[in-house]
Amino acid sequence: MTKVVDMTDKGNGTNGAELTGAGAKMWLLAFVDRVVAGADELTELDREAGDGDFGWNISSALKRGREGLEGIDEAHPAQAFQTVADAFLASGGTSGPLFGLWFGRLGAGPTAPWGVPELGAAFGTATEAVRRLGKAEVGHKTMVDAMVPATEVLTDATARTWREAVSEAARAARAGAESTGGMVAHRGRASYLGERAKDVLDPGAVAVAWFFESAEGV
Ligand code: ADP
Ligand code: MG
Repeated sequence: MTKVVDMTDKGNGTNGAELTGAGAKMWLLAFVDRVVAGADELTELDREAGDGDFGWNISSALKRGREGLEGIDEAHPAQAFQTVADAFLASGGTSGPLFGLWFGRLGAGPTAPWGVPELGAAFGTATEAVRRLGKAEVGHKTMVDAMVPATEVLTDATARTWREAVSEAARAARAGAESTGGMVAHRGRASYLGERAKDVLDPGAVAVAWFFESAEGV
C-alpha cells in the first residue's frame, strides 16, 4: 500500500497519523515538565483532600522517568510508556502503583507506531486495569474520573490522526477532572473527609488531564 505524503510532519520524527516512539517520548517528557512545574498545586489539592504528598510522589517518580526516557532508543511508544511505568515502581502513596499499572499496560502495547485504533486499545486495557485495582468507578473522585472519559474518546475516536484523538481525549479528561470538584470521595484518603473535601478537585484526576494535555505541543 502506498503511503500518502504526510503534510503534518513536523520534522521531529513523528508522522501525522501515528504516534511514534519519538512522539511518545516527547509527549511524556512534556508531561514530566508539566507535573514538575505544577507539583505544588497537586500537593495543595492533596493537602486539602488527603495528606499532602501527591505532588511529591508523582513528581519524584516522573523525574526518574525523565532520566529513563532520555536513555531509550525511541523505537516505539510502548518502550517509552514502559520506561515511565518502571519509574513508578518505587513510588510512594496509593497513586504510585496505580500510575505504574496504567503506564505498564500502555507499555505492553504494540511494538510499532500506534494509530488511533492501537491508542484506543492500549488505553482501554490500561484504564480498565486501574479501575479494577482501585475498585474505582466514575464518580468516586479519583484519577479514574479523568481516565475513563478520555479512554472512551480514544476507543470511539473517529479522528484520523493520533493528535486529533488525544486532543479530544484531553478535553474529556479535563472535564472529568473538573467534575471531581463537587464530588464526595468514595476512594482514597479524601473519602475520610466526606463533605469537607467536596469542593476540592482530585489531584490524581488533574494529573491525568495534564497528561493528555501534554501531547498538545508534540
Ligand atoms: P495517598 O492517599 O496514599 O497519600 P497519593 O497522595 O499518592 O496517595 O495519591 C492520591 C490520589 O490517588 C488521589 O488523588 C486519587 O486520584 C488516587 N486514588 C486514591 N485511591 C484510589 C483508588 N482506590 N482508585 C483509583 N485512584 C485512587
Ligand atoms: Mg496523598
